Amino acid sequence: MSKFVDATLSIYDEMNSFPADYHHDTEIKRTQTHQDGRCAASCFKFSSHTGTHIDAPFHFIPEGQKLDEIPVNKFIGTGVLMKFMDRGPEAEITAADIRNRGELRKGDILIAATGWSDEHFGEKSYFQKNPYLSSEAAEMMVEEEITAVGIDAPTLDSSRNLQQDKAPVHKSLLGNGIYAIESLTNLAAVPEGRIKVYALPLKIKDGDGAQARVVIEY
Ligand SMILES: [Zn+2]
Repeated sequence: MSKFVDATLSIYDEMNSFPADYHHDTEIKRTQTHQDGRCAASCFKFSSHTGTHIDAPFHFIPEGQKLDEIPVNKFIGTGVLMKFMDRGPEAEITAADIRNRGELRKGDILIAATGWSDEHFGEKSYFQKNPYLSSEAAEMMVEEEITAVGIDAPTLDSSRNLQQDKAPVHKSLLGNGIYAIESLTNLAAVPEGRIKVYALPLKIKDGDGAQARVVIEY
């Protein structure tokens, strides 16, 4: 019997977003309540990169695929979960680290579990000192022709690079049609090894990214 883990952060009012002027503050407002026999309804406002979400190639690549142009079957697939837990702030995950944890197969969705979201989501440091992939690791994933890479941290690149408008990992992955899954959570219980991933984002027309409900089956 397989088990299912919900690897998704809940979205809530005033939830933290990436600290940049182009990311909106999160607003989740109940616009009607059950009062007087009415139905409950809400309105949402949040950045395309708040919480657990998918980065489409278009996020960094002007001619890259937009979210609604990625074939839907790419969001469900087999892959591998590798653990790089408790390495501390700003830990770099290298190509050698990945090779040491196991085998990547063509078409895989690689999930890198670091424990960062579980420990630091809601703190300022979450977006400042996240674990990240090395550019060599990203190049290796391109060579292995994987489908996607996910991490339980806000971004695949080091925040230091992003602050300087550099994003070597995003550029090499998204530039080769490999989409990203960011701000995953709840991965500690999943054992290392082969998994099935369901990572279906909102179908935003011409989207650069959007929230996804991500489930891991093992
Ligand atoms: Zn993103």
